[in-house]
Amino acid sequence: MKNQRESQKANSDVSKSQSTQRRHQKLFFNKFIDSKIKESPYLQPQFISSLDKELYKGENLNQPLYRESKTTLLDSLFRHFVNFSSNNGMSKKALDMCLRNEKKVLPQPNCLPGSYKDAYKLLKPLLIKTTTYDACVNDCQLFRKTNASDYSMDVECGKCGEARYSDHSPSARKTYTYMPLGPRLVRIYGDDNICKLMFSRPDLSNGKLSDIADGNLYKSWFQRGGVFEDTEERCTVPLALFCDGLNPHKSMATQKSMWPLMLTWLNLPIPVRYILGPMMLVGIVPGTKTEEPKNLDPYLDVLVDELLELSTCTMYDAYKGAPTTVKVALLQYLCDVPAFSKVLHVSSQAALRGCPYCKEEGQYCKSLHKVVHLHNRPFLPIEHDLRNNENEFALKGKETSSKPVSFTKEEELEIRSRYDGLPNQNQKSILQKQTGLKGTYSFMRLPYHNRKEQMQPDGMHTIADVIGNVLGMVTGKDDNKKVRNGEEDFNRFKETWIKRDDEDAEPCSEVTRKRKNDNQSNANQKKQKLQTEISEELPKAPWKVDKPGLKVADTRAKNLVYPTGYDYLADSHFSKPWTLRTMHGKHQILAITGDSSDLTPRLLPKRQENTLRKLFSAIDMMTHESYDSDELEDIIRFTSEAMSLLERDFPIALQTITTHLMHHIPEGYADFGPLYGRWLFPFERINSWITRQALNKNKIEATIMETYAIYDWCVFMIMSGKIKQDDINIGKLEKLLLDEGIDEMKTSIGKKFFIPDTVLSHMSEIYDFCLLQRMTNEGKEVSCCTKLYGNTGREMKYSSVTKQRSSDTFVYAVKIGDDFVANQNCVNSLSDILFGNISKIFEHSWHGKSYTWLLVDIYDDVKFENGFWSTSEQFISQRPLLLQDVSAPQVVGKESNRLYFVSASVSLKE
Ligand SMILES: [Zn+2]
Ligand SMILES: [Zn+2]
Repeated sequence: MKNQRESQKANSDVSKSQSTQRRHQKLFFNKFIDSKIKESPYLQPQFISSLDKELYKGENLNQPLYRESKTTLLDSLFRHFVNFSSNNGMSKKALDMCLRNEKKVLPQPNCLPGSYKDAYKLLKPLLIKTTTYDACVNDCQLFRKTNASDYSMDVECGKCGEARYSDHSPSARKTYTYMPLGPRLVRIYGDDNICKLMFSRPDLSNGKLSDIADGNLYKSWFQRGGVFEDTEERCTVPLALFCDGLNPHKSMATQKSMWPLMLTWLNLPIPVRYILGPMMLVGIVPGTKTEEPKNLDPYLDVLVDELLELSTCTMYDAYKGAPTTVKVALLQYLCDVPAFSKVLHVSSQAALRGCPYCKEEGQYCKSLHKVVHLHNRPFLPIEHDLRNNENEFALKGKETSSKPVSFTKEEELEIRSRYDGLPNQNQKSILQKQTGLKGTYSFMRLPYHNRKEQMQPDGMHTIADVIGNVLGMVTGKDDNKKVRNGEEDFNRFKETWIKRDDEDAEPCSEVTRKRKNDNQSNANQKKQKLQTEISEELPKAPWKVDKPGLKVADTRAKNLVYPTGYDYLADSHFSKPWTLRTMHGKHQILAITGDSSDLTPRLLPKRQENTLRKLFSAIDMMTHESYDSDELEDIIRFTSEAMSLLERDFPIALQTITTHLMHHIPEGYADFGPLYGRWLFPFERINSWITRQALNKNKIEATIMETYAIYDWCVFMIMSGKIKQDDINIGKLEKLLLDEGIDEMKTSIGKKFFIPDTVLSHMSEIYDFCLLQRMTNEGKEVSCCTKLYGNTGREMKYSSVTKQRSSDTFVYAVKIGDDFVANQNCVNSLSDILFGNISKIFEHSWHGKSYTWLLVDIYDDVKFENGFWSTSEQFISQRPLLLQDVSAPQVVGKESNRLYFVSASVSLKE
């Protein structure tokens, strides 16, 4: 609620009078609300009733579980259903058994329901009601009544003629369970506690671009002509849709078959925004057996209909104590490429016109059997040097064309309508090929819909793909005959082409040996073929590290020190390419590119090495948590340059649509905020919750929705404070979702720490207005502590070096003026940054507040070379730093008596 706050700051008189006014309003409404609220027609009485306090008394839910028990029936139900619906998934049968046993063990008589069925019966009136629709097995339509049509009584599909019901049973062949949005919003606005929680957004941005709410797009919704024009921020519900295919049977290698539809409320505080609960599952589009749904539109239509209904609605607002107008709009789509294709009817990955953000056109490369996208240079500034390079790029000659643009909203509408009007599939395919667009789709019915403004490339998958592909090429895993022939097609890297005479030559001995062991299975033959391709003698290529080089890289990778609690271990990653975790690409690049001293062998030619460094620096820049607005221009330019160099120095095979999409990622930051807030990780976590609930093989989607409704209620009970249990609070909500529930708070080791005077004097500089004499020189030592990681709600663990084990935690701190700050992307001089290792963690009290301090051993001889920070292994001093001011624990490589801080994402201003 930044805008709201700013205006309050600027005009406190107005806000005072507003709050007085609100108090009057509240008094007025409180008097008459009880009598009037239920009859009032515009208050949507069915919503209000679901909130009715009477409901919680109805079945005597507040009675003690047995005589003199302090636990009520409601408490007990809640606890059982929390266990049932969270974590690893518990079957109804298991809960059934649990209840049966407990009922017997408890003092008699007791009112605990003795079975799942009885417990669910008590709970059901408290849950948000779901609606189940019958669907055509081919996904042409739902059998439901809308303003436009009525198929509710049909027994066969109006489009494909398939029967609605199965022959042998009266139930429909396919169903879709939808959990409406409206009642959930009413419940949120109607609860004082939840309102406070949801609308108290801490100001994270401090003037920087760190969230979607700091971006131009978000601001435009509230401006003149915007969808939320003249509406108070907290009375708006800007939503983002996330949708992706999911394979419920992890073990089976079947296709993704179900499609959960999830909505995120974009102006909630970030830690709350990405918890399932406030993040709302509206339905799961069912697949058919192992096939994914053919068409999502009929299912999305249900959501669109409700969104239209809710676009301006009235709800009871517990915070104001009065009915209020709430505006709801779906304004962002978070999907990966295949999902975008299904939801917004754009071409998918393999198409020539595969980019939904611009009119770039790929070309089919016969040797590679795939489409390649070669327009990197048009993204460069017009005066850029690389544009004049006539021979080394795939498309020869000077590059003079400017950056490709996209269709206008009007052009796009015209194409889509034309597509719908074409008489046959063949003609439609041709139009799609030319434009990358298909016909009209569900969300176009939303009056404020604007595809181009509301979708952005999925950064997580795009970046991971690009890194994975590059590493695959460098390690030789993906380098093969096709790749080399591709280069020949474009007349580049002549020395790497496969000599024609060799083609019929005998395969090398290694392969012959493998063939002898061949067994007849088909899968094995395929594997064999793959191995043949890899082990085939390819001429040396500048993009590939040779075998001795890979050994060196392996040793380096093995010597990296990862922080405690990191989910990745040092290993010989280069001889085991499947262990190369792509998101940690930058750490591995160090292993490949050699270090600053020229003693070690160069594993790649200098040119390729520089290009790789540039690429990983670009990726590093793209993944910062926040930006100053004047940084963006540079990042866009830097990215286009890195992508152009990648085309120049590495095989054309890497020029896939994902590589092209890299250009568009930083372009969206000014409007959408950093990639950080749009990571799909929270959604993937929720997908894993869904997978864990998929216990029932029959009607799997409907079963999950039933469990979800229970989960949703549990979250509501916690957030609203209706359940007051010491061990359950909003902080633990997140844990409901996670597999492990390890509590990572500070662990005290109870020792006192006497703070030396030199350290104390450093501390006094950081405390405000602090007199050294008045500070106590005693702190309480702790063995480890945690800190939230930026906007993600994820926790990082810090621990100090102990004698028993080598749990190094390497950190750095950036100084701006006299202060240390976290999240700085760039420093002016080497003296503005400190690198060190935590030797002690302690708590210190000052002015009644407790502070967590890290005593850090500071390393000598800081250098910044080739995009990497390094220091000597020598300590020069020890100094205290506040936990809040240091970086995340760092991955560090050790070589030639120097430490390489390979994960540090700060650069030195040139
Ligand atoms: Zn049909
Ligand atoms: Zn594009």
